[in-house]
Amino acid sequence: MVLYKTAPVDEAPLQLKDLPIPQPGPKQVLVKVSACGICHTELDEIEGRLPAKLPIVLGHQVIGSVDSLGAKAAKFKLSDRVGIAWINSACRKCLFCQSGNENLCPEFKGTGCDANGGYAQYTVVCEDFAYPIPDRFNDCQAAPLLCAGAIGYRALRLTNLQDGQILGLFGFGASAHIVIQIAKHKFPGCKVFVFTRAGQKTHQDWAANLGADWVGETGDTPPAKLNCAIDFTPAWKPVVEALRVLEKGGRVVINAIRKEEKDKDSLLELSYPSHLWLEKELKTVANITRCDAEEFLPLAAEILIVPQVQEFALEQANEALLKLSQGKIQGAGVLRIS
Ligand SMILES: [Zn+2]
Ligand SMILES: [Zn+2]
Repeated sequence: MVLYKTAPVDEAPLQLKDLPIPQPGPKQVLVKVSACGICHTELDEIEGRLPAKLPIVLGHQVIGSVDSLGAKAAKFKLSDRVGIAWINSACRKCLFCQSGNENLCPEFKGTGCDANGGYAQYTVVCEDFAYPIPDRFNDCQAAPLLCAGAIGYRALRLTNLQDGQILGLFGFGASAHIVIQIAKHKFPGCKVFVFTRAGQKTHQDWAANLGADWVGETGDTPPAKLNCAIDFTPAWKPVVEALRVLEKGGRVVINAIRKEEKDKDSLLELSYPSHLWLEKELKTVANITRCDAEEFLPLAAEILIVPQVQEFALEQANEALLKLSQGKIQGAGVLRIS
């Protein structure tokens, strides 16, 4: 399914095409794709808010098996099951790469954005940017772990949460429902407070079922201050609210590739004494590193995280993306490729 030019998602912009099977370069592997998750970032690419290198095969939550090996590829054997995430490559030489921050590399390339991704029967990737997938997940269950799961894991790492502390989660969806499970597993003494939009009863119940210690709405004052928080929303108000209920020295991490313009006025409510002073920090999370994916996948298997998925055929990609844009998908949407 190829994106040739940006267009509104309700115009069915992806076209089914027969392309030649790509050939792996020396350090690459050819992956026969079996499942690929769909993501809000793809809506941004399709509608032009995030520039992709057109024409492009989208898809950055790719599960498949190694079908052939480049001349110098030695990490996997034929038929090994692998996953490919948003990070497709980085230069490995710059100061960012050398310090483990390859997600910030100036030559960072995104799967399904700068290089063809997984909305296809085959794709190629450098073997270093493909990861073994734990046996306990089937292909469709594993796909969403590669984006919502791995980036949620990175966001949690960036909060510096310590056991015994209080973590706040603003917005509760694909990523946050995985983060709460990681936090509770790694830091059994921590408390997690979840803030949703007004009236999101099903999300609040979901959070409570997954062990949230307190559930409320953005704007509520929780029973104790937060030592750190992650904002998963596209809006600004939750950021301001998170800073308001943040403990001294705490950190708020924004897990979003872009923010909506429409409620930017909320930022005018930022007051230095109540939102920022006393060493409060605001940080964003961008992309992921190989290390994030490599650490998160076995952890997800250990915790028994099983994402809820709704499957579509590859040919239904336009329909699946439209449903995603309308908030009509239960759990994570995954394309099954046969
Ligand atoms: Zn994604
Ligand atoms: Zn680099």
